[in-house]
Amino acid sequence: MQRDDCLFCKIIRGEIPSSKVYEDEYVYAFDDVSPQMPVHTLIVPKNHYDNIAAGIPVEELGHLFAAVEKVADIKGVREQGFRTLVNTGAHAGQTVFHLHVHVLGGAPMNSGDP
Ligand code: 5GP
Repeated sequence: MQRDDCLFCKIIRGEIPSSKVYEDEYVYAFDDVSPQMPVHTLIVPKNHYDNIAAGIPVEELGHLFAAVEKVADIKGVREQGFRTLVNTGAHAGQTVFHLHVHVLGGAPMNSGDP
């Protein structure tokens, strides 16, 4: 299920343009509009969940994280390494309330980096 008023649901439906990296039956991946690293891609489930603490079924969660490897391959960071990040709620600074996995890489990172 998607939401009419959700930014990332609109991106999935193609109502807002995005730079698509990967798509399958369960997930859509696209480059972050404001990249924090040379590679910064977001992977979202096609069904709407506010975040990882909003009851996503395990099977859909599996598909979401299975896409990380695919995105890392496509973006060319699988061998050199990359970071995955999932912000959940206010204290983590989540700004878009549609569950998304950040895939960050393309240069060495320190602990203070995103
Ligand atoms: P959060 O802080 O919620 O974990 O991350 C939200 C991410 O979504 C941010 O990195 C932000 O740059 C990205 N973002 C926000 N609006 C858009 C948009 O319209 N298009 C794309 N591609 N990324 C967006």
